[in-house]
Amino acid sequence: MRCGDVWELRPYRLALSEPYRWAKGENAQRQGLLVRCVLGGAVGFGEVAPPPNLGMPLEVRRAAEAVLLALRAVCSREAAWALLDAPELGSRVRCGFATALLAAEAAAAALPLRHYLVACDRLEALQGKGARDKILVNGLLTDREPATLARHAETLAAEGLTTLKIKCGADDALDAARVAAVRAALPSAALRLDANEAWSADPLRYFRAFAPFKPAYIEQPLNASATPGELAAAAREAPCPVFLDESASAWTVIETLLDAGAGAGIVLKPQRLGGPDRTLSVAVQLAARGTPYVITNSLESAVGLWATAQTAAAAPALALPCGLATARYFGSDLAAPPKLVSGELLLNQTPGLGAEGSWEGVP
Ligand SMILES: [Mg+2]
Repeated sequence: MRCGDVWELRPYRLALSEPYRWAKGENAQRQGLLVRCVLGGAVGFGEVAPPPNLGMPLEVRRAAEAVLLALRAVCSREAAWALLDAPELGSRVRCGFATALLAAEAAAAALPLRHYLVACDRLEALQGKGARDKILVNGLLTDREPATLARHAETLAAEGLTTLKIKCGADDALDAARVAAVRAALPSAALRLDANEAWSADPLRYFRAFAPFKPAYIEQPLNASATPGELAAAAREAPCPVFLDESASAWTVIETLLDAGAGAGIVLKPQRLGGPDRTLSVAVQLAARGTPYVITNSLESAVGLWATAQTAAAAPALALPCGLATARYFGSDLAAPPKLVSGELLLNQTPGLGAEGSWEGVP
């Protein structure tokens, strides 16, 4: 990059087309920040997406504005990356800016982002490895009423989504009825249950409630503040593998958790880990260890969805369906999302991120 390259930041607020119901509430809209980087004529977008239940925290916006000013003052690619690699930078802010810079670099190199990620010097362990053109995904189910949820599950299965993730919460009786309805409708579907930390008070009660429905795995039953020993004790009692999501904040943390037996697999989110490059660094470690993992987005707009899909497409030894079928929650969006066909997201052959949204029209 050179002096005079462009960095811009805009807040967005998107209405959801249906409520996003999960253990931390019910969201009707999504707020975040859209980042744009222009290197010469090459454009890259990225997204800063706080957890959906937090709206747009002022401290995140201020942190992002500070990074924007600092990046506008640098005159080399090395200086930009040194700024983004500062340890004190929050992961979601870093994710937005690092994605925009990587996407612009990919566009400048005339490569789709996933091919750039396995060619660039930031990810030496991936250099020379191939990237996929399609990503297998799981369907996401959040409806409250069991009958509605089951109907929805059947629709998704008919569209080719044979792995389904059901958001659960603290109401074990209601959630057991919801999961039972889906299991009755789809006896052979792989069902993932995501507790989003809601079962901390008595995980065994929840495990007993859901065991009859043979989950493929349970995601993050306990709060992320639980110790590795507490998580491991719960995982030993679970009726299926436990995957850690909210706990999985950095490789050093993940390694400690895996060594303690706290989980059988890991959910990687670029927003939580700090961007596509950091996510892939962790994926390389998990692949070397033989630990199963999935890559999911954080209910981001199409910009973040593209970034996460590109990251998954470049990830080594990624064998499980990823959590990327979230575009349908958006009534309007910042760009066209990747097409979902027969349970797979189809990625771009054009240079860059794949989401060439209308910057002028950001709501
Ligand atoms: Mg989760």
